[in-house]
Amino acid sequence: MKRVFGVIGLGRFGYNVAKTLAESGAEVIACDIDEDKVRQVADIVHHSFILDATDEKALKESGIANADTVIVSIGENIEASILVVVQLMELGVKEIIAKAVNPLHGRILERLGVKRVIHPERDMAIRLAHSLLVGGFIEEIPIADNYSIFEVIAPKGLHHKTLKALDLRKKHDITVLAIKRGERFIVNPSGDEEILPEDILVVLGRREKIGSL
Ligand code: ATP
Repeated sequence: MKRVFGVIGLGRFGYNVAKTLAESGAEVIACDIDEDKVRQVADIVHHSFILDATDEKALKESGIANADTVIVSIGENIEASILVVVQLMELGVKEIIAKAVNPLHGRILERLGVKRVIHPERDMAIRLAHSLLVGGFIEEIPIADNYSIFEVIAPKGLHHKTLKALDLRKKHDITVLAIKRGERFIVNPSGDEEILPEDILVVLGRREKIGSL
């Protein structure tokens, strides 16, 4: 069954979340208090509503609380963001993701029990800075305790060496999970696999270790 997402607040953030989800085939219910914002997504998402999401009755009637995941992307009006989150919790939404506009807003959302609080500008800035520090960085998926899965262009120092010879796990606490080589995707590569120039490596490790390769 298709996953259903609700997006409340269609500023730049909410709009792009709704659009990307819908274009990827997910079912999206979107709403905003502003008619123009709703008009912009009307042809893209499955259901769209003009409503004040702090209005409990309107929120309930929209059916947005039946979504598997609801993204609350009301920022500047912190009071509205908090009211909406509390109401969604009371309506039994399983997964709530909320955008915070400042650290205090973020802390309030966390205290309310929102598992995933997004600080778009701060997060993007940190990501950019990290990407500048790790050479050949393409993508990072944080896992835990400083560990992430990285997609990096194979550093020069690794070229034409086998994984066995490099012994990255022992020397750098880095595990090579996969190698992208043109169209090929070598998952769980063996020790005999040689790293070639232009390989893209999918590795698990700590950022500082990967940056030092
Ligand atoms: P972004 O930074 O994502 O562009 P923004 O700066 O346009 O956002 P925000 O204050 O974060 O503005 O609000 C996002 C959207 O939430 C706006 O389109 C706004 O109309 C909508 N919004 C604000 N309050 C409510 C509400 N009570 N119910 C529904 N939508 C609301």
